[in-house]
Amino acid sequence: MSDEPAPPDLLPDLVCSARSCRHHAVWALRWNNPKLHTPDRRKTWLACEEHRESLSQFLSMRGFLKETVQASDLAGH
Ligand SMILES: [Zn+2]
Repeated sequence: MSDEPAPPDLLPDLVCSARSCRHHAVWALRWNNPKLHTPDRRKTWLACEEHRESLSQFLSMRGFLKETVQASDLAGH
């Protein structure tokens, strides 16, 4: 029954958001669905090198993709 939240200074591992991918994420895709989110809201998908292209295309085809940043930038490094 040890289900305590992790300490805030321990970031979870950055894992690719692609389905069934367990690779370390290098990229963070920042996106917004204007039908669901206010304009300043940002959702984040993480992507490894292999899936950056396909995830970016999925979002940009729908006009959701706002920016792509390095995943390490999210951790404040
Ligand atoms: Zn991946």
